[in-house]
Amino acid sequence: METRIVKAYGDESKDREIMEEAGRLIRSGALVGMPTETVYGLAGDALNPRSSRKIYEAKGRPSDNPLIVHIAEKEAIKRITEELPEKAEILMEAFWPGPLTMVLRKSAAVPEETTGGLDTVAVRMPVNKIALELIKAGGGYIAAPSANSSGRPSCTTAAHVYEDLKGRIPLIIDGGKVGIGLESTIVDLTGENPCLLRPGYISREMLEEKIGEIDVDPSIEGVMDEKEHPKAPGMKYKHYSPKGELYIVKGKSDNVIGSINRWAAENREKGLKTGVLTVSEREDRYKADIIRALGAENDGESIAANLFLALREMDDCRADMIYSEEFQVPGIGDAIMNRLVRAAGHKILEV
Ligand code: AMP
Ligand code: MG
Repeated sequence: METRIVKAYGDESKDREIMEEAGRLIRSGALVGMPTETVYGLAGDALNPRSSRKIYEAKGRPSDNPLIVHIAEKEAIKRITEELPEKAEILMEAFWPGPLTMVLRKSAAVPEETTGGLDTVAVRMPVNKIALELIKAGGGYIAAPSANSSGRPSCTTAAHVYEDLKGRIPLIIDGGKVGIGLESTIVDLTGENPCLLRPGYISREMLEEKIGEIDVDPSIEGVMDEKEHPKAPGMKYKHYSPKGELYIVKGKSDNVIGSINRWAAENREKGLKTGVLTVSEREDRYKADIIRALGAENDGESIAANLFLALREMDDCRADMIYSEEFQVPGIGDAIMNRLVRAAGHKILEV
């Protein structure tokens, strides 16, 4: 299958032709790469079980890892959910459209293929104009997991989607580099207390300000026990990983820099290439083959936006060993470290 990349602008009149084509593809059961404000998504008709099966196949994703259903109007949530708790309504008003996904009891309209066999459904209304146009054109309910092949870093540009899915989908809509760069926050509203399943741009504090205390799923903090069934099923799988061996290095700044530089020299003697993820204040202090500053130390938004990009650059430069500093920033820092720790397969070195 040939994969085309076509530019969209988020302007209904300029995008008419491409949206008609993309909408037709989705309604016929095909898949389209789609920009959102978080990361690029792999869009298919959420109410068509064949489309969901295709999504799992194209990504190479295990089929018990559920998909998020994207809608373009708040009202649309009613058709796919059994009930709408008051806290869900409060969060919708506060954060939609935006990077917040809510897990709710599903209605019979949503096939189990889309929810990985669960009786709950994850729903989000994105703010990205191109995504909203495409959701409408595709029939109003779009399943869209991140458009990377399973296990790899999520895609923040259309070129990354092409790299991972070329030959597997007919069309990628290019909406430029995404704004946020990390997947949506996920909160489960089906239990007694709301529970945070995945940290994102909308922080726990922002949620608690609106609906009071929320629990945090144990899979976010620690290593999952194999037998434990995580509420956020995706969390048990290897995630976001570059091809090289990634380690997070924690400690006093001078120790971190000294250790990484020493390892880089040792790696070079063994014929291995070393990559470093750091911040702009310290990038000059490293001696390694590939050094990427994700942003200034206090600029969480820039670090988030560049994280997956930098991990992919490490692959492009064939880094064998990659060392990352720990990024401690308020707000989005939890989400950044959540992705980084998973990308590193929990390999953390204290120096
Ligand atoms: P992705 O689309 O790659 O950002 O991943 C979607 C993630 O959303 C899954 O891996 C799950 O962790 C979570 N998710 C989706 N649907 C549900 C659900 N019904 N219950 C709990 N978590 C869900
Ligand atoms: Mg993903």
